[in-house]
Amino acid sequence: MHNPDHPAAYLAARGLSKRFPGTAAPSVDRVGFTLERGGMLMLLGPSGCGKTTLLRMVAGLVAPDAGSLLVGGRDMADVPLHRRNMGMVFQSYALFPHLSVARNIAFGLEVRAVARAARDRQVAEMIAMMHLDGLEDRPVTSLSGGQRQRVALARALAIKPDILLLDEPLANLDVKLRDAMRAEIRALQRRLGVTAIFVTHDQEEALSMADQVAVMADGRIRQAGTPADIYERPVDRFVASFIGRGNFLAAHWQGGGTARIDGLGTLPIPAHAAPWHGTRTLLLRPHHIHARPPGDRDVRCTGTVEDVVYTGERHTLSVRVGPLGLTVDQPAGTGRAFAPGQAIALSWSADDMVVLDPDQP
Ligand code: ATP
Repeated sequence: MHNPDHPAAYLAARGLSKRFPGTAAPSVDRVGFTLERGGMLMLLGPSGCGKTTLLRMVAGLVAPDAGSLLVGGRDMADVPLHRRNMGMVFQSYALFPHLSVARNIAFGLEVRAVARAARDRQVAEMIAMMHLDGLEDRPVTSLSGGQRQRVALARALAIKPDILLLDEPLANLDVKLRDAMRAEIRALQRRLGVTAIFVTHDQEEALSMADQVAVMADGRIRQAGTPADIYERPVDRFVASFIGRGNFLAAHWQGGGTARIDGLGTLPIPAHAAPWHGTRTLLLRPHHIHARPPGDRDVRCTGTVEDVVYTGERHTLSVRVGPLGLTVDQPAGTGRAFAPGQAIALSWSADDMVVLDPDQP
């Protein structure tokens, strides 16, 4: 029976693998994920980790060596590219330079032999939706980067795809335009209810746009979850440092809710932390550390400010605590500014620390 609290996965990948001839390691190695209908999955990872290859397997552009892909319960193994009803948008736009804006947008509809009247109606709708009015007859070569990417999006959406696949579509745009396009794509994707996978190497882009984020490294998904899961509870140091800044502390289990932390001594750790042997790494995000004047009670440690960087929204302090260097974010406008050379006391909540899994080789 359908349970609205646990909607069945619309898109389900299992064990997808691909190794290109002549390469030493698989580009995608036993990758699985699920996505609900209408969800936005952000595939995030460093250059060469296999994001594009995974996306191209979903599209049907690359045949997997192993694994399966189900869309709405249907196995895609024997469904060719042109029958998958997926729209694709690339970083390079991949528009036809000799065609007008309208002809570019109509392309997928022409391939599908949609009748002229329906095609014209659909193109007009896309032109309006993507704010391309007045540009219909212009060659795409005369457009700005932002306008070209709108045309590419309009072309992908014109076929009313079940799934929208986006491969770093905003990488060629300047920062301001990129921010605006992020919001616009997300709003559009929600409004149309289209299921989407978006490849990026930008962690801010991933966190700000996702329902689900999958962090990839070396052909594998290291962690998948909501943006808050990934940021607040990363599984290992790779994910923690890829998705934000952090202080990484070497810790030895002591029992009684405490650990001996190199450079800091015995301190409380999260109450629910499971016991471990040997050394484990604790993550403490810079914004979870609170700067206090020296002499304040209830502090975890004291140190010396070595550097202060002002970014408008915050001050980032580099603090020397014995052998350790800690990074501390202080929101701007708190009325208390620290300067290099000053003594400082630091506090944090033990529950804000995350015990990370041992690093993978
Ligand atoms: P980027 O962000 O730089 O685009 P990516 O995470 O999308 O990287 P992929 O493009 O999927 O990574 O590449 C993953 C690995 O597979 C790389 O080592 C790449 O060189 C290799 N690769 C991709 N396509 C092919 C191919 N057609 N033949 C051989 N190797 C390939």
